[in-house]
Amino acid sequence: MSKITRRNFINGTLLAAGATMLPYGCTSDRVLKILDHLYYPPALTGLRGSHPGSNTHAHKRAWDKKSDWGSTTKLKEEYDLIVVGGGISGLSAAYFYLQKHGTNKKVLILDNHDDFGGHAKRNEHTINGNTRLTYGGSQTLVDPQSSGKLIEDLFTDLGINLERFKSAYDLGFFKRNNLSAVTYFNKETFGEDKVVKHSFCNYPNYVEGLPGAKISNEEAVQQAPLSEKGKKQLLIVLKGGLHKIKVPKEELQEYISKNSYYDYLKKTLGVDDPGLMKMARNSGLDWASSGTDLMTIAAAKSCGALGFAPKAVYDENNPYIHHFPDGNATLSRSLVKKMIPQIGKGNNAEELVLSKFHYDELDKSSNNTRIRLNSTVVNVRHSGDPKNSSEVFVNYINDSKSYIVKGKGVVMACYNMMIPHIVSGLPLEQEEALRLQMKSPLQYTTVGLKNWKAIKDIGMGLAMSPGNMHQAVLMDFPVSMGGYEYTKTPNDPCVIQMISCPYGTVGMPRKEQFREARHKMLSLQFNDYEIEIRNHLNGMFSNDLFNFDRDVESITVNRWAHGYAVGGPENSTKIGRQPFGRITIANSDSAPNADALVAVKMAYRAVNELG
Ligand SMILES: Cc1cc2nc3c(=O)[nH]c(=O)nc-3n(C[C@H](O)[C@H](O)[C@H](O)COP(=O)(O)OP(=O)(O)OC[C@H]3O[C@@H](n4cnc5c(N)ncnc54)[C@H](O)[C@@H]3O)c2cc1C
Repeated sequence: MSKITRRNFINGTLLAAGATMLPYGCTSDRVLKILDHLYYPPALTGLRGSHPGSNTHAHKRAWDKKSDWGSTTKLKEEYDLIVVGGGISGLSAAYFYLQKHGTNKKVLILDNHDDFGGHAKRNEHTINGNTRLTYGGSQTLVDPQSSGKLIEDLFTDLGINLERFKSAYDLGFFKRNNLSAVTYFNKETFGEDKVVKHSFCNYPNYVEGLPGAKISNEEAVQQAPLSEKGKKQLLIVLKGGLHKIKVPKEELQEYISKNSYYDYLKKTLGVDDPGLMKMARNSGLDWASSGTDLMTIAAAKSCGALGFAPKAVYDENNPYIHHFPDGNATLSRSLVKKMIPQIGKGNNAEELVLSKFHYDELDKSSNNTRIRLNSTVVNVRHSGDPKNSSEVFVNYINDSKSYIVKGKGVVMACYNMMIPHIVSGLPLEQEEALRLQMKSPLQYTTVGLKNWKAIKDIGMGLAMSPGNMHQAVLMDFPVSMGGYEYTKTPNDPCVIQMISCPYGTVGMPRKEQFREARHKMLSLQFNDYEIEIRNHLNGMFSNDLFNFDRDVESITVNRWAHGYAVGGPENSTKIGRQPFGRITIANSDSAPNADALVAVKMAYRAVNELG
């Protein structure tokens, strides 16, 4: 069996994929790296998301308290606004600033990644010359119709037409192809590789148009590769047992909002089968940013964990269909296009779907708005007393060289818990509050397949996969727009998504679990992921129809060590996000709410706080 050596060299490096960064002296006072015309990060595969090298300087600052960055070049550039972080919030901050103060203002956006968009990144997989689009993180606009006038106006200005999704999202795709929610039990955990046409939880219900279980609870339990005792217990759990809780009816709500789901499974329902507990643990996946071991019964119920009957996640007035082929990357790209029109062709969001962006336009000295990638901010300080200072100095590292640039104001649109490590002189209470903010790790792996015959064969729209690193595998959302066509037949190439919520040791507090999982995530190499994905797909699909080496074209592992905004103790987020002199704070963390449109709103607030 041939090893996929062609992928071993794409381990998150730029050069190997044909994109290059050339040394470039653009003004007499600096030598920066700029992005040449081949630089095109969306097409990179291998380790992406928080790609290797992206966190190096931030971690040196936060973990090792590094403050001496060697000789530092003071740039002659001066900006009206400097934005730290080029995710949706940072891009929106720049956009709102220009809207408020005029498009002739000078804005610089700095981001540590090699691509803009933060979590809202585009992944491209080219399979036999056919480019498939997908998302590396932030994927769908959640409930955009009711997010208010600010968002409505933004969408009008960017040319995002929500009506368009009604026809662009192919609601009949899954049913037409007989694909539904299934569960894959792997041999290592359950003793045999088996696919059962039932999801045993509510998770797959958010995928609009995806049919649920194809067989009854009883049939599914019989087919599940559990011990006889485990099967009996699974049936009890599926039948639901809230009525078995021995408290007066009027006290039930309070009871379930205070008591642990794990205790409920173990003590009230008598579950002790280890396989069943594995199924339960990740049955909420990312809905509540923790494994079910940390949930109350009420939380587990509301995220549809094992044992809670399927219910619609979104109603018909609020369908989960607002998905561009590259997810919310289209929102990032639309914002960039608005501020740097020469970045690519297209007059509205739909026309941008297939528009190839020219990254060498991002940081041209002739731009009013410049986006500087691969630039980690390590220090932000006022000149003099923050109360009446009119200047802020921003120190960043690009290609291991240290630069300082000056702005009249700064919006920190980066991870909020990083701010105390970067911003000098913060009031103690604010600093402590910011340190308490949490983010959950999350991983979206996208896999380019030459065809999906094996997927059709097992009827998989989405496969829950207890015991695997990727606890869910799904066909991408069936959306065609802007000339981009979603995969049509099982003979055609497609991209699948593999979702991993890497929580830590059961029983540990949430913050510790995040830390443990984050550490493990960052310590793995591409090869480790490839082995995991190989075993997962080989075990799930028929060997007659699927051959990993033959059928897998590309793998992109989008690791988000700092993923969903989770927040901290009560009020800490609000205390943390207070303006500090000429520095204000945005990012979805400052809400806290892991939501693209909230990230936009936080940017609007932060820009207005600057005055
Ligand atoms: C896997 C995943 C899936 C998601 N799916 C959805 C979804 O479907 N719908 C939805 O609404 N939301 C979703 N989210 C939530 C997502 O966080 C928001 O949608 C949105 O993208 C957040 O934008 P942001 O700008 O606030 O933060 P980010 O996207 O995190 O952007 C912040 C940027 O600042 C950079 N930065 C940090 N420190 C520094 C520094 N020192 N110097 C320079 N730059 C720095 C970061 O690297 C990052 O690029 C998802 C998140 C993840 C991780």
